Amino acid sequence: MKIEVLGCSGAEFPGFNPPGFLIDGKILLDAGTIGASLSENAQWKIRHIVVSHAHLDHIRGIPFLADNIIIKNKRHNVTVIGIAPVLKSLKNNLLNNKIWPDFTMIPNVEKAVIKFLEVKPGKQIEINGYKITAYRVNHSVPATGYIIQDRRGKRLLYTGDTGPTHAIWKEAGRAKIDRAIIEVSFPNKMEALALETGHLTPKLLRKELDKIKMPPDKILITHPKPQHLKTIRSEIKKLGIPNIRLLKDGEVINI
Ligand SMILES: [Zn+2]
Ligand SMILES: [Zn+2]
Repeated sequence: MKIEVLGCSGAEFPGFNPPGFLIDGKILLDAGTIGASLSENAQWKIRHIVVSHAHLDHIRGIPFLADNIIIKNKRHNVTVIGIAPVLKSLKNNLLNNKIWPDFTMIPNVEKAVIKFLEVKPGKQIEINGYKITAYRVNHSVPATGYIIQDRRGKRLLYTGDTGPTHAIWKEAGRAKIDRAIIEVSFPNKMEALALETGHLTPKLLRKELDKIKMPPDKILITHPKPQHLKTIRSEIKKLGIPNIRLLKDGEVINI
């Protein structure tokens, strides 16, 4: 499994883009960054977008990708995968013919540029040999993390945005996780805000990791606020957990 980090930040600045992880060039995990990082040809290779939740920093690449498809007049579509409330929010609040055209109806329902595929938490689906399962996490809006397993059995865990949670850690303990991409948004001193908004700090992360029976092989941190990056990095280091580090925009991870 090859994971290209198109973005892994909890805000936007030059060099710091919102979350988007491209798996083997074909499946995009969250869509905070697409067109700002990928060439036109690379954008055509995306056939599925797995969305954790409907916050703008996780979906904002979708409308621009849809626009690029229609401008090119390609007979092409992309399937957006998520739980029902997330898809509903995308339809009602983004692709609503007000904020952006409704690409689930353009050029028509059958050939629509954007198609939706609903997943239910805990129920595995299979897409081109990838086994994908959503797990509810604890955020300020309906949200899921995902475990994605490729044909070779390599398993990636992604939390999306979450505060302290349970279901995904329980599942993570059942079989080896090769890479876990886990959010840490705030430094320890902002714990109250983190809990209120459904996010983690390094200290809260420590408690979450204690919930997993079998620790992941490697832990990669996503979604830090760039304004607090230095503090978060040093607090993560102080946890003394082996094989943990912060992700960087543009890096490529091979499992
Ligand atoms: Zn969020
Ligand atoms: Zn976010």
